[in-house]
Amino acid sequence: MTNELISLAKQFHLSSLSSGKFASSFKDGESCIIELLRAEAEAREKRRVAERAKQARLPTYKGFKEFDTDFQKSITTEQLNTLEALEWVDGAFNLVMIGPPGTGKTHLALAVGNKAVECGYKVFFASMDTMMHILKTREISAKSASRVRWINQCDLVILDEVGYLPLSKTEANLFFSLVSQLYEATSLVITSNKGFSGWADLLGDSVLATALLDRLTHKCQVLNFEGEGWRIAHRENIF
Ligand code: ADP
Ligand code: MG
Repeated sequence: MTNELISLAKQFHLSSLSSGKFASSFKDGESCIIELLRAEAEAREKRRVAERAKQARLPTYKGFKEFDTDFQKSITTEQLNTLEALEWVDGAFNLVMIGPPGTGKTHLALAVGNKAVECGYKVFFASMDTMMHILKTREISAKSASRVRWINQCDLVILDEVGYLPLSKTEANLFFSLVSQLYEATSLVITSNKGFSGWADLLGDSVLATALLDRLTHKCQVLNFEGEGWRIAHRENIF
């Protein structure tokens, strides 16, 4: 029996097969069985990736290839390569991208999310606004409750547009709980138009902001995006 057949048999928990019990009776049909199990394994893997892509709720596709480092000079090709390699996700590092609108923060967050899904990681993407809605309605909405269950299993959670809308006291507390819950187990990617010095205002509580930033930045890469926005530089007109 070949090693491939043994490992496929183990993968499908076919214990008699993997123990080699029927080895002699399979001599002629072995390649056929391998073919069959291989096809089934591939189909299952495809379904798993498709299911994870659906759960990730990434709104659009943006890739690392499409990110132009000539336009966004604050980010180097080397940094892009490190981000794309995703080793930092295994180490549960966080990534915070700060800068003015249109400078490519969401683009890179989506590129990271798409790559992670492709590589088999469990990912969830939401704007801060959507995340707050999910957390606030988790007790009364089955959909929100199921999203929260998924978030707690994720390897990577992406929170887009932190800081655009002011947070209520309840929301600030929910944000703090989320960061605490994911701390050291899950990579958190945050995009924000506000530098950390503005987060006390954003949360409306400097003690809470300090405690949150303490956890968020313990193992964290901060990227500052600069320059004019892509949208303004590439503005299109109707006339
Ligand atoms: P932000 O989240 O910082 O406000 P986005 O990532 O949404 O900005 O970027 C706005 C648009 O410009 C998107 O369509 C994005 O793909 C594009 N864009 C921004 N920066 C770059 C870049 N450096 N290379 C390629 N496209 C970019
Ligand atoms: Mg954005």
